[in-house]
Amino acid sequence: RVRGVRHKVRDGDMLLLNADEKSVIVRPSASTEETFQHELVDRQKKKARYAAMRDDPAVTKDNVPITLMINAGLRDDMSALATTGAEGVGLFRTEFQFLISATLPQRERQQRFYRDVLDAAGDKPVIFRTLDIGGDKALPYLKDETSEEENPALGWRALRLSLDHAGLMKTQARALIEASAGRTLNVMFPMVSEPWEFDNAKAIFEGQMTFLGKLKKQLPSKVRYGAMLEVPALAETLDILLPKIQFLSIGTNDLTQFLFAADRADPRLAERYDWLSPAILRFIKRVVDTTDGHGVDVAVCGEMGGRSLEALALIGLSALTDSLSSHVVKEVLYRPRPCRDELIAHKIRFLAKTCGLNGSFTSSHATNHFGIAMFLFQTLKKSTSLWGFGFLWA
Ligand code: PEP
Ligand code: MG
Repeated sequence: RVRGVRHKVRDGDMLLLNADEKSVIVRPSASTEETFQHELVDRQKKKARYAAMRDDPAVTKDNVPITLMINAGLRDDMSALATTGAEGVGLFRTEFQFLISATLPQRERQQRFYRDVLDAAGDKPVIFRTLDIGGDKALPYLKDETSEEENPALGWRALRLSLDHAGLMKTQARALIEASAGRTLNVMFPMVSEPWEFDNAKAIFEGQMTFLGKLKKQLPSKVRYGAMLEVPALAETLDILLPKIQFLSIGTNDLTQFLFAADRADPRLAERYDWLSPAILRFIKRVVDTTDGHGVDVAVCGEMGGRSLEALALIGLSALTDSLSSHVVKEVLYRPRPCRDELIAHKIRFLAKTCGLNGSFTSSHATNHFGIAMFLFQTLKKSTSLWGFGFLWA
């Protein structure tokens, strides 16, 4: 979000847009422009480096495999499976098709779209997330029902909205089931706050399976159900939920905004929204530990998994399936290629436990591995010892 931009930009102005840093420079000076050009060249080189890693196995130095998947939402995104060598789509945001459409997409259109996506994925799995609309993703044709909320992110959105609009969810369920005829359907529900919501959503899918079975339609060969963990309350009832699901995906984007009570879309709160904070690391560790022994696949599908340092922390916390920019995570694996042995996991846990860092450790300290190592060294040197993070530049 760029505020007041219309007062600052005139017709014909040159703009330098850096989507990664979410910055725009208006009427750049010659030297800024030159720096930008250099950055573009660097970026091309980086792209080439990523491309060269495409077929390298995603394993740590001590041979622990990491499953890397991409996030997608449009048909065009599917080409990234080939370019990155990712193992599948860990999060397919089905609402994108609804957001770019002027009217509610009808069942046949949805079905064709989901089938196209599955065809494009070939043998690779695709996890379809049911509609996550409301909040910052308002649909023009549902606007009247969602626009009056004071706190839309905490409001009538995602699964809450879908369960109340059972017709909408039934249509989507049927389209997904029909599109997956003879194949595995992986379906995931967003913003589950309590296990009964998962039960009700699953019942809608099972109801459609029965209905289509009676019509003698070909059904999916298997349906796997999963939930997103992005509402912190769900972590308190995992013992009830885990026996019901096949996979759990931690949505760190929303989870972090809820844990810190900090709007993820407000740039003024960016510094309060830190994936490397003890609160987040401890929370994720607790969730991962709770899932142990339940035969449930655990993944991270928020942006955290696609950032170099944060991905390292996730590897250390054994949240081993990362969904997002797999090339970034691969770079983590190959430079400096960490060892996810007990010691490394222990080191990250040490950070999660000890962060007696007085809240002063933020992602902005982590611009490069050396920087963060130095920061930690300076901060922790008075406490036990710095056996943590030696691996960052090893
Ligand atoms: C998340 O909340 O982490 C997530 C992956 O979902 P979205 O960003 O679409 O809300
Ligand atoms: Mg979310």
